[in-house]
Amino acid sequence: MSHKKILLNFERNGTSHTLESYLKRGGYQTIAEKIPALSPAEVLEEVKKSAIRGRGGAGFPAGIKWSFLPKDNDKPVYLICNGDEGEPGTFKDRVILEENPHMLIEGMILASYAIRAKHAYIYIRGEYGFALERVKAAVKEAYETGYLGKPLKGTDFVCEITVHKGAGAYVVGDETGLMNSIEGKKGQTRNKPPFPAIEGLYKCPTIINNVETLASVPWIIANGGDAYHKIGTEKSSGTKLLSVSGHVRKPGVYEVELGYSFMDFLNNEAGGIIDGKKLKAVIPGGSSTPVLKPEDIKDMTIDYESITAAGSSLGSGAVIVIAEGTCMVKLLEILTHFYQHESCGQCTPCREGTGWLHRIVRRIEEGNGKMEDLDLLTSITKHIAFHTICPLGDAACGPVDSFVKKFRKEFEEHIKQGGCPYSGKFVRFQEKV
Ligand code: SF4
Repeated sequence: MSHKKILLNFERNGTSHTLESYLKRGGYQTIAEKIPALSPAEVLEEVKKSAIRGRGGAGFPAGIKWSFLPKDNDKPVYLICNGDEGEPGTFKDRVILEENPHMLIEGMILASYAIRAKHAYIYIRGEYGFALERVKAAVKEAYETGYLGKPLKGTDFVCEITVHKGAGAYVVGDETGLMNSIEGKKGQTRNKPPFPAIEGLYKCPTIINNVETLASVPWIIANGGDAYHKIGTEKSSGTKLLSVSGHVRKPGVYEVELGYSFMDFLNNEAGGIIDGKKLKAVIPGGSSTPVLKPEDIKDMTIDYESITAAGSSLGSGAVIVIAEGTCMVKLLEILTHFYQHESCGQCTPCREGTGWLHRIVRRIEEGNGKMEDLDLLTSITKHIAFHTICPLGDAACGPVDSFVKKFRKEFEEHIKQGGCPYSGKFVRFQEKV
């Protein structure tokens, strides 16, 4: 199936990041042609009509989020673009940051105008050095040509953007941890309420959106919210970037229309499973989303509702494909170690519980587990999930509960045999394609 391309509508020839290339493919036309005719409220209305849902993972409608800003506010308003793409398996925003940064900047100008933001920030994870260079260069070009730092045509609105480099913490992917980081504090999350729309960056009203969400805004304003809503499904409108990794023949980043068959995507775009192996499992939305078995996904489509109905979540759109022969206990050990390592330590259930989860899974993998450990794991997750300040605690529990539930026999085999039936290895198949 050929999919409409909104975000990857360019040839990946090494020049797509430049202003010259972006202008040639119609970039910044909304600033020149639409903004003079649209009020901030009208821009907001188009984004609401599009029904675009936040592409960072939570899936909350962006236009509704923007309308949470207080109406009688005399403080400055801030916009933040969350480019702290740290969920294991997720690398789709990196493509926009590196190859289409001007589309993001245009989207941020439109969003800033709609919410009357005094200043906007692009926060990029510390590990994305090349993306940081590309975005900084694009912001410089936008300032030099007057899209930033000067009143937008036909208005008195000036958009200012600062690029901020992160320092390598998963927890900063949470909104308030990211704001603390920009403020120069430890990147730890804040208790909510107050929510960022009321009291965010520097205690001022703040809107924070994902890279993919903001980069979609120019198309929405150029073509209208209704046109965007017609793409995809009624409740999951538009296109979605998917980053595909694991045991597929063609890993990479793809843009698909929401509502597309998952199995068609796997077999066509992603090229199917390598080495002619059978599919064993799929993590559909980043490492924190519950794992699914082949029978769960045979009729699943790529959209928020269908993946939820299958028992998982679209999350960040990071599809991790697992072939037969992979040890699920070893894989879970790797994931639990990640969450233990990234816990910021503020709340006891997450600080202590993520370590317990990892140590128990490790001892099962090493052949020292007991049958009671399986119920102990799910009992611990019940005391972590929804008992913490930020979603990292919940994120750590999704894989544990689903791996134990769906692959319980494999855990039991480890315990009965006193070791890993897969020789203690996480299988990394390699195939030249
Ligand atoms: S849930 Fe974990 S990462 Fe989040 S604030 Fe609590 S301790 Fe920190």
